[in-house]
Amino acid sequence: MKEIKTKLLVIGAGPGGYICAIRAGQLGIDTVVIEAGKPGGTCLNVGCIPSKALIHAAEEFDKVAHLSGENALGISTAKPSIDLAQTMEWKDGIVSRLNSGVAGLLKKHRVKTVEGWAKFRDGKTVEVATPTGPQIIRAEYVVIATGSKPVELPFLTFGDKVISSTEALSLTEVPEKLAVVGGGYIGLELGIAYAKLGAKVTVVEAAKSILPQYDKDLVRPVVKRLSSLGIKVMTNAKAKGLSTKGNSLLVENSTGTDVKVAADKILVTVGRKPVTEGWGLEEIDLRMDGPFIHINDKCETSMRGTFAIGDVTGEPMLAHRAMAQGEMVAEIIAGEKRTWDKVCIPAVCFTDPEIVTAGLSPAEAKALGHDIKTDLFPFQANGRAMSAEREEGFVRIVARADNHLVLGIQAVGAGVSEMSAGFALALEMGARLEDIAGTIHAHPTQSEAFQEAALKTLGHALHI
Ligand code: FAD
Ligand code: NAD
Repeated sequence: MKEIKTKLLVIGAGPGGYICAIRAGQLGIDTVVIEAGKPGGTCLNVGCIPSKALIHAAEEFDKVAHLSGENALGISTAKPSIDLAQTMEWKDGIVSRLNSGVAGLLKKHRVKTVEGWAKFRDGKTVEVATPTGPQIIRAEYVVIATGSKPVELPFLTFGDKVISSTEALSLTEVPEKLAVVGGGYIGLELGIAYAKLGAKVTVVEAAKSILPQYDKDLVRPVVKRLSSLGIKVMTNAKAKGLSTKGNSLLVENSTGTDVKVAADKILVTVGRKPVTEGWGLEEIDLRMDGPFIHINDKCETSMRGTFAIGDVTGEPMLAHRAMAQGEMVAEIIAGEKRTWDKVCIPAVCFTDPEIVTAGLSPAEAKALGHDIKTDLFPFQANGRAMSAEREEGFVRIVARADNHLVLGIQAVGAGVSEMSAGFALALEMGARLEDIAGTIHAHPTQSEAFQEAALKTLGHALHI
């Protein structure tokens, strides 16, 4: 059996693992990364990137469909049609370019990539089933970056009509009727995309509202848009299984009545769970936080020299959190003094309209005992938003009442995902309301709503 010794071994080349390995390579650390699938993990292959490609295609389709009817702009065009198989080929092309990009970056930084499934033999030794036979790798430091996978419902197991996000990102025909179980991030991002492409979509959500992690004001514009897209939303509803004929989803609605939702495909998006099975967690007996691996503020696990990063360590399961953890861990292994001291991990929900949150919401700030000032500026009063038909939504700021330190920034609106960087920067730099209000924001841009939200929270907005 082949044996390799290395200083750092990274298990999983998702955004957590590959960034950790690249940074370690830059710092001159002898590094091996093991990946059972393709470089880039969930994010690049079956997550962030392919979903945003599908969302983009659906937006373009919807735009043309809108312009083919009566519209304020005076544009006329024929009704669009779509060859979804071709759209998926285009999406696969982007994924494949990025796969090669990540593989190239690992190589450039002298990281050795081993293909195959890794399994711990002991705390510092891993056996990998590579295509050319088993290989043993011994390391001084190990980083577990095994990621997450979709939660399966026992009464709606994946297969045939019942699909997870992975299959939903590779359909070659738009389903006529799509039932979505779970109205969270994935269910709504993909549900909206398929509705735009012409599917009749029904969302079945167990909680009393879709996107239950966000406050009502942020969710309201999305609910309005779902309705205009003809998406039926059932809240306080429980999916119970497939009908006997298999052509409908059985649902107990909010009044306790059993109803059938006709469906050609049933997309189950009720959350993701950490990948903690099949790689020998039992051999190393790590401390856990519920289903996740317990980590401290350096991403160290309960075993010395063993780190864990990304989705396997818990919420928020976001690619940019995994990347930031990966970078930090590589620097710690290189001897730098680093701890997790981020003020915020911004989150973007790529629905229509998009939702951005960074830092604390008004309710979270109050719950932490802060005396706050908060206000919002609507896009209805923003010239760029008006001239781009993007009037729905707002930017909201939460600040301490005493010294005006900004605690949180939220926005909902078309294209607000690109504003998330400015929000996170303001929070990381410890901005006060006066800093944002005093920064010249270029005109005409939607970002002016950020400056105006700060001015409004200070009591002297200029454009409302
Ligand atoms: P992963 O990306 O899951 O990577 C883990 C890797 O480890 C995988 O490649 C796996 O094959 C490998 N692996 C596991 N075990 C082993 C083993 N024993 N041996 C060898 N290899 C192993 N996040 C965002 O921030 N923005 C978004 O817009 C966004 N959109 C998403 C859309 C969808 C449809 C989905 C499903 C997720 C989305 N996410 C998004 C979440 C994001 O994909 C994850 O947070 C991110 O991929 C986590 O990175 P990770 O490195 O922890 O794990
Ligand atoms: P989620 O946690 O966002 O949403 C799951 C939803 O399913 C919740 O609203 C929950 O109340 C509901 N639910 C749970 N059990 C149910 C049941 N039996 N019947 C009906 N509804 C039920 O999970 P997700 O959409 O699967 O996404 C998983 C994770 O992936 C997210 O939490 C996020 O971390 C990540 N993600 C991020 C992005 C992004 O950053 N834009 C996009 C997609 C996914």
